[in-house]
Amino acid sequence: MLAPDPRFDEIDGMEGHEFEAAVADLLRLRGFDQIVRNRGFDKGADIVAVRNGVRTAVQTKRWGTPVNLKAVRQLVDGVKRYGCARGLLVTNHYLTPPAIECAEEWGIEVWDRRELADWLPGEPPVLDTTVCAECGRPVTPGVTEWCLDHRAWYGGFVYCRRHQYASQRRAG
Ligand SMILES: [Zn+2]
Repeated sequence: MLAPDPRFDEIDGMEGHEFEAAVADLLRLRGFDQIVRNRGFDKGADIVAVRNGVRTAVQTKRWGTPVNLKAVRQLVDGVKRYGCARGLLVTNHYLTPPAIECAEEWGIEVWDRRELADWLPGEPPVLDTTVCAECGRPVTPGVTEWCLDHRAWYGGFVYCRRHQYASQRRAG
């Protein structure tokens, strides 16, 4: 479950191909040109885009679950398959810890929910990060930090240890 954020209502409700189109627009805004969508032939990259002469393979994931290691590996393959120098993963969700690790290892750039939130108009909803989102009990700063560092499991919420376990199981 993801922390509620009305700014994402439209994005979270998109079909995969709609999200892909929205990302293509975003790439244009972020200085990419020659944006080509690999319609229907998704082999590890939905889009190939160029910025400052550098070819980038872009994979878009409008998912209701965290982006996993497999998806990042597919993009690593996509970078080679499409003769690109770089890879970029764009998702409305977060990446699991192994997926983050793999992305870092292969130099894959990631625009996740946090990144996208920065570019959306409007203010983020205020979330009290000093208490558990499930039971309301106060948590230590260490627990808050842990939860916000592991958004794939906790969706941007902060949970006490007991409810961390429940949330992690829901995230899979
Ligand atoms: Zn709790």
